[in-house]
Amino acid sequence: MMRGMMMDRPMLVSSVIDYAAEVFPQVEVVSNTVEGGIHRYGYAQARERIGRLANALVGLGVKPGDRVATLAWNGYRHFELYFAIAGIGAVCHTINPRLFPEQITYIANHAEDTALFFDLTFLPLVEKVAPTLKTIKTYALLTDRAHMPASSTLPGLLCYEGLLSEMDAAFTWPEFDENAACALCYTSGTTGEPKGVLYSNRSMMMHTFCLIASRPDLFAYNKRILPVVPLFHANAWSLPYVTPVTGCPFILPGAKLDGATLWELMENEGVDAGWGVPTVWLGLIDEFKKRGRKPKNLKQILSGGSAVPQAMIDTLTRDWDIEVTHGWGMTEMSPIGTITLFRPDEQKLQPLERAKLSALQGRRMFGVDLKIVTEKGEIAPRDGETSGELFVRGPAVTSGYYNNAEATKKQMDAEGWFGTGDVAKVTPDGWLVIVDRTKDLVKSGGEWISSIDVENAALAVKGIANCAVIGVPHPKWNERPLLVVVKAPGAEPTKQEIMDVLGSKIAKWQMPDDVVFVDALPMTATGKISKKDLRSKFADFKLPDMAGG
Ligand code: AMP
Repeated sequence: MMRGMMMDRPMLVSSVIDYAAEVFPQVEVVSNTVEGGIHRYGYAQARERIGRLANALVGLGVKPGDRVATLAWNGYRHFELYFAIAGIGAVCHTINPRLFPEQITYIANHAEDTALFFDLTFLPLVEKVAPTLKTIKTYALLTDRAHMPASSTLPGLLCYEGLLSEMDAAFTWPEFDENAACALCYTSGTTGEPKGVLYSNRSMMMHTFCLIASRPDLFAYNKRILPVVPLFHANAWSLPYVTPVTGCPFILPGAKLDGATLWELMENEGVDAGWGVPTVWLGLIDEFKKRGRKPKNLKQILSGGSAVPQAMIDTLTRDWDIEVTHGWGMTEMSPIGTITLFRPDEQKLQPLERAKLSALQGRRMFGVDLKIVTEKGEIAPRDGETSGELFVRGPAVTSGYYNNAEATKKQMDAEGWFGTGDVAKVTPDGWLVIVDRTKDLVKSGGEWISSIDVENAALAVKGIANCAVIGVPHPKWNERPLLVVVKAPGAEPTKQEIMDVLGSKIAKWQMPDDVVFVDALPMTATGKISKKDLRSKFADFKLPDMAGG
């Protein structure tokens, strides 16, 4: 093979913020701050402060390869940490503050974090877990001097703004191998301890470019983008890199993510597009209804992280003139794998026709290969019928978990593909359909029932705000579906009404054996319905006698 003669320049994430500072100096990063009030600055000023932070990190003794942890909401200081930590060659380890304290301890110790930067909100949490954190030497509070606590049990607690004010803004990024790690994110699977996904500068840049290449329109014309998806959930789906590269303003919502707060921020900041998990949009849609309108500029919602119900897509399309883009992915994939991608003929369809396609999980993003392996170990044809376990491959897909050979072995196949644990099929047109997570399928007799399908059907029932389907033990059928429902405020749907609607939408053997009403569904730390918790809550549930009929 003949070697090309191009420069071997490393792709480093530090180049992203330098580019934005130079080319889009005034384009804003706007933050709803934890202390209260809005903070705004341009990418040039962000770069200046990132330079100060980089000098501070070096001064604190952070070395290339060290893991520096964050426990923080979506705000400008968290954004600065992303770039300063990676820029000096260290690893930005975003910890999910919604995890149980014991899990936070496990994660920080497993990663051997040396420093922890955290928002004011988390001071009590950090003080509580600090005695169990074995490797953290530096604690820094992401606030100014005025908001520092009078005293704290944390040894030598630093003030972020104090630290920055003493530093020089000039900082020239070191150059190193693009395969050097830049970020770390633990994913808590349904079983076992959380597992670390260690991203490299190269993988992060590849994911960023592949996303922009696959859907350039999402970032065209300097769209004002608001990530509800946290910076601690799978790199906020690459947005902290994509927005500076494309010159999009970045609107960071801070600690309050309820419908009313999001509505106000979107309205005041003229947000064009919101990115987040479906549960967030349920709250926002309620707010649209209360106020009788959507925030003035909002035209696009990118929803991912769990299946987006058809009813939600239809409501947003028909009632609010909002286009829904659906994404599927995993922390292990940086995270986007597939995304709503219309061909020219589909683009011409009426919005409600297109909305049907948006309920599918999308087409593969450039740079992501998909393979579906049936139970017999064969590659499934792309016929929209044959399902099996979905495997993925690509430059932004993990090659194994950080310091966890056992978990890695379970997930990788002999050819180096990563097993997602999702059951899926692909239509002849290349649309991915996620049937279910393997563990969430209801195994009824010899058949599998997709909990997603039944939920989708149930969410079309008027008066159901949210729902989940789980398998509960059944003597004859092994498992049968139970539908757990949260009623919409003021609505009183009955079991019979729900069953009648479902009967017209799904097959008899897929019908839930019972319906129970609850006030709220348990959520995971990343804002998805926790089926694991629901299953344990209803482990002893007795289905009615006719069950499985
Ligand atoms: P996480 O790494 O926490 O983002 O979780 C990844 C998992 O979430 C995937 O393996 C899927 O089971 C699920 N998931 C993500 N996006 C979707 C989607 N659009 N539809 C269905 N399931 C999804």
